[in-house]
Parts: sequence; structure tokens; C-alpha cells
Amino acid sequence: MPSSAFPRVIAIDGPAASGKSTVARLVAARLGGYYISTGEMYRALAWELLRRGVDPAADPAGVAALLPQLKLHCELRDGRPELVLNGERVPAEAVRAPEIAAAASVAAAQPAVRAWLLERQRDTARLGLVVLEGRDIGTVVFPDTPHKFFITARPETRAQRRLAQAGETAPGATVASVAAEIVERDRRDATRAIAPLRPAADAVIIETDTLTAEEVAAQICAQV
Ligand code: C5P
Repeated sequence: MPSSAFPRVIAIDGPAASGKSTVARLVAARLGGYYISTGEMYRALAWELLRRGVDPAADPAGVAALLPQLKLHCELRDGRPELVLNGERVPAEAVRAPEIAAAASVAAAQPAVRAWLLERQRDTARLGLVVLEGRDIGTVVFPDTPHKFFITARPETRAQRRLAQAGETAPGATVASVAAEIVERDRRDATRAIAPLRPAADAVIIETDTLTAEEVAAQICAQV
């Protein structure tokens, strides 16, 4: 097989709580690649904004002014990429909170934020085989990769999956309240002017309502 046929980048996109991260982790483990959550990069930025009291909805100019002061990169620790922001490890658990997700989605609609993160996302390919999950990996970040997948499921299925993950929903949340939050975040992500959530024309679309994460990962590995 010519070396150019060896996969370098696998793009897994899809709406909120579609199971992308579980699937992408499994695919990376099976293929010996690195799992990269681009959503975590948006969340890391949102976490820093909230810590500094910058509200991304009210103050987009403040967000843009702050970006040059921030250094965000992926560093390998115990063989796994970890996000480091201004020298501090980004706490993966803390950034899963629902208020950080909502702020990330607001900041993610701002062109300065997307341009800033685009470079950092492309830079991860230096690690080797990377499995990136997000919203625009197949359309914007790595449009040339032949390995593009779009994972989706009904909002109720996704709400149930999210409720099953500790720390990702507010206390007292129900399937209906989480589904409403997810639908609102998808609406914002899919209707923004820049890099909206949508499958690339050549992406393989996988409906996962009746599939386990292992089954979805197996389908992706078989196609790659
Ligand atoms: O995937 P996750 O839920 O962690 O993403 C958080 C938010 O980051 C999304 O709702 C979306 O607004 C933004 N995002 C994005 N493009 C990506 C990944 C995430 O706009 N590639």
C-alpha cells in the first residue's frame, strides 16, 4: 500500500451529545491514533473567559482582545494529548459543565475565535494519526481528508446519553430539559454564519439511535 493511503486524519462530526467522543476514542484506540476533542478546545476558551469575567455573548470585542494573550496547545502526557492553556492543564472534567458548553457555543460563533482555534486544531496532525471530533472537521478543519463521518441521533436519545454521564447536566435535569438544551445548542451551531454544524458532502452519515458506540466505531474502522 502506498504510504499516502495510510490514514492521517479521521474526521468525526455531529451534533451535541451524539456520542462522537466515545466513538472517536474507540476508533483512536483501535487504529493506534490520538483522540482529539475540538469541542474541548472551545470549552477551554470558554472556561478561561468565564474565569476572567468576560461574557462571550455581551462582549465579543473583549473575547477577540484576549485571544493574543492566550497560549493553547495539545501536549502528550502518558501518551495522550492533553490541553494546556497558558502553562496550566485544562481540567477535562470541569469544562464538561453545561454552563461552559453554552458559553463555548456562543464564543464558537465568533470569527476571531474560530480563526484562532483553527490553527491549533490543524497543528494536532503533527502528532501522527489523529481522530478529531467536532462540528466542522470535515468541512473546514481538514476538508481534504477522505475519512469523514457524521454521527447523529434523535435529541431524546442524545439527552439520555448525556444524563448517563456524570457532571454534564444540571442537578434535577430531565430527558426533556436536556433535550431542549441540546436542540438549542444545535440550532445555534447549525445556523451560525461561519463553519456551521453540517455534514461534509462526502461524509458517511451514521444514525446511531439503535447502535452501540462499539458498533459505530467498528463501522468507521471498517470503512477507513
Ligand atoms: O463537542 P462539544 O459539546 O464539547 O462542543 C462544545 C461547543 O463547541 C459546541 O456546541 C460548538 O458550539 C463548539 N464547537 C464548534 N466546532 C467544533 C467543536 C465544537 O463550534 N469543531
